[in-house]
Amino acid sequence: MGQPLCYLDNNATTQVAPEVLEAMLPFLRERWGNPSSAYLFGHQLMADLDRARGQVAALLNADASEIIFTSCATESINTVFHNALLTQPGRRHVITTAVEHSATMKCCAQLEQRGVRVTYLPVDSGGALDLARLDEALTDETALASIMLANNETGVMFPVAEAARRCRERQVLFHTDAVQAPGKAPLDVRSWGVDFLSLSAHKLHAPKGIGALFARRGVKFQPYLAGGGQERGRRAGTENVAGMVAFGRAAELAREELARDIPRLRALRDRLEAGILERIPGTVRNGALEPRLPNTANLAFSGVEAEGMLLLLDQAGICVSSGSACTTGSLDPSHVLIAMGCAAARARGSLRFSFGRYNREADVDRVLEKLPGMVERLRELAPVD
Ligand code: PLP
Repeated sequence: MGQPLCYLDNNATTQVAPEVLEAMLPFLRERWGNPSSAYLFGHQLMADLDRARGQVAALLNADASEIIFTSCATESINTVFHNALLTQPGRRHVITTAVEHSATMKCCAQLEQRGVRVTYLPVDSGGALDLARLDEALTDETALASIMLANNETGVMFPVAEAARRCRERQVLFHTDAVQAPGKAPLDVRSWGVDFLSLSAHKLHAPKGIGALFARRGVKFQPYLAGGGQERGRRAGTENVAGMVAFGRAAELAREELARDIPRLRALRDRLEAGILERIPGTVRNGALEPRLPNTANLAFSGVEAEGMLLLLDQAGICVSSGSACTTGSLDPSHVLIAMGCAAARARGSLRFSFGRYNREADVDRVLEKLPGMVERLRELAPVD
């Protein structure tokens, strides 16, 4: 307590930017109407939503009419899978990768229970995808291929444009989970030729509870939620006006700041990564060096459990995350690291550090000052094989 927060978990969520908060506040304080109302107090909000839609579209090089606001990326992703199966009833097969976020993994597991065949494409030890495996998996029965743009745990990036091209040749719909990319990598749905793309506002310095789905113009679309006719009949539910305005402003900032943010994030990440590898014996990087998000480092510490490091780091006011998902007492090693061929012990001893717009050199200094002693202490106290 009393020490400033050292937040290095920006792949989990991000601080709301002051500019974003300022943009959204009028829609919570004074302009709180329902855009679907017939009277001006509500209806005039449509212009604000159009502006926000245009700002998100510009981030992706899409047309505003191709942006559907949702509640989160999880909803966007589930919508895409259900839509692809619903609009192509003869096709009962989908393709994804073994390292997707749980939003995709659990959606696919649910579909499997309903008799849909799912192919999980493997990755190599660096986390890279071999597109020959995608070619092999595509069939006339395939409704959708969903391949993430950047992995949330390792930052490893997949060749989405090439994957989309191969799917297009086989007339298979293509979706990418691009949640981790805004503000860290350029986005261009037009040149990539993707049919669908999912985003989440809280990963780019906007609040939680608002997501977006790009659906290419002309692609068949059935709403996932039954209800009102909002979002041109593509997503029911009264609009989260303040959230949409916030998302729009955050998208604008991410686009404007990208050229400055990328080298800045990379410099911080690289200094941290090199510093840890140099100062702490028995550490290795998880995931290939490139292509990788500039803000993410995933490191394995031999002979120590991530949970112990997280606890000590937390006591020092440092927020990072482990490669493992902690579920009601049982520690499952990360499915991403396991898919890359990591032994369970290595996966359990891995930490993810992810930088954002508000991190500074002092954050790197703090980790490099504190972590080596913590790891040493844990290795002495409770050695793990
Ligand atoms: N996809 C990826 C790659 C993510 O990192 C996340 C969030 O952690 C999601 C999807 C889910 O996003 P949301 O929290 O908006 O549902």
